[in-house]
Amino acid sequence: MIDPWGSNQYFDYEKLMKEFGINAPDNFFDHYLFRRHLIFGQRSIEYIEYAIKNNIKFNAVTGLMPSGAMHLGNKITIDQIIFFQGLGANVFISVADLESYATRNISFERAREIAINNYIVNYISLGLKPCNIYFQSDDKDTQRLAFILSNETNMTELKAIYGLTDSSSMLHVNSPLIQASDVLHSQLKKFGGPRPTVVPVGVDQDPHIRLMRDLASRLRIYNVSLKDGHILISIKGTMDSKKFIDEAVSLLNNYELSYNYDYRTIELKNAGEDNKTEIDIKLSFLESKFNDLDFIAPSATFQKLETGLKGGKMSSHVPDSLISLNDTEEDAKRKIKASLTGGRKTIEDQKIYGGDPERCPVYELYMYHDKDDANVQRVYEECRGGVRMCGACKSEAAEMISSLLKDLNEKRDESMSKVHEYLSHE
Ligand code: SF4
Repeated sequence: MIDPWGSNQYFDYEKLMKEFGINAPDNFFDHYLFRRHLIFGQRSIEYIEYAIKNNIKFNAVTGLMPSGAMHLGNKITIDQIIFFQGLGANVFISVADLESYATRNISFERAREIAINNYIVNYISLGLKPCNIYFQSDDKDTQRLAFILSNETNMTELKAIYGLTDSSSMLHVNSPLIQASDVLHSQLKKFGGPRPTVVPVGVDQDPHIRLMRDLASRLRIYNVSLKDGHILISIKGTMDSKKFIDEAVSLLNNYELSYNYDYRTIELKNAGEDNKTEIDIKLSFLESKFNDLDFIAPSATFQKLETGLKGGKMSSHVPDSLISLNDTEEDAKRKIKASLTGGRKTIEDQKIYGGDPERCPVYELYMYHDKDDANVQRVYEECRGGVRMCGACKSEAAEMISSLLKDLNEKRDESMSKVHEYLSHE
């Protein structure tokens, strides 16, 4: 069971991919997070690739929980969002202040301060351009949509996905619906209607992704599937199918097709798996004429979680396990100096056998935060080859992180003055 509320650190990503049907990304995206397989999985990323190749607008959506400091482990999500924004994505960021109120007893006013000072300012300093950032407690669109989505699921399904029991908190029932609404509302008519939408997440969020994809599909009129290797389009609902079939047939007239009003289906003989994304996207654009709740099932990328400096997950309960983006350079250096490593017990052994970068939180600092592929490769080879000692390696990593923090600190005032350009409804 993948638990979105748990504190487990997942390491066996291949097993997770097999068990939960997560696919590896292809080589379409040229970014160090993809090249280094720190983004190890995806669902339906071909929708985003299709949008980019065909100049179709697409969205990138994420959320932040305003409950503490933004740390290096959170940075991978916003790094991706900034990357997708650079490729043309319309970005939506939800501040989950309802959730921080419910789970951490943080007032809305305090959540607002934390979100702006600890997160949004750093996002801007890291390169995020103006976008739609909103507070869940303010946003009527997401609240209304969450209510509508609640009619599309039931307790049996939520129990199966999340392992809920009769004594589970209602928060665990509501929270997935609000998260689904956060993502799907970016496709409401007022934001341009249905669009391919990518959500970068840790694998612990996959239950939410699966639920929101199912909910999106349930609200669609046109359902595109594969039957015996070719495309089958079904018209859902009980309304007269003729109008929907005629419109779809006219849209897809470049395919060899047959249709049946009674069975509410269209079969495309010369279209298969390779055409499915294109047909689904085209039909969703057509469907938006008839359906205000027409959403393209969101795509997801899955990122590996950066290991804490003390091993395990980075956790605010263990302050020395993480480096906050608001930490001083001195604090960061001290924490890195005290970090666990994958080094041998003695310098002699390190020289003979080499270190183990794959089990080293210091090496992860390079992997996640040093954009220079050649330098990361050098660190790896020198460590493995026994010519790199952990003390010097930590000092180099500390300089790299310290320069990142210095840069963020220098940009802070300017970024703060721009926050209002990012906040919706203000
Ligand atoms: S040399 Fe660096 S990368 Fe290798 S184990 Fe030591 S700290 Fe980690």
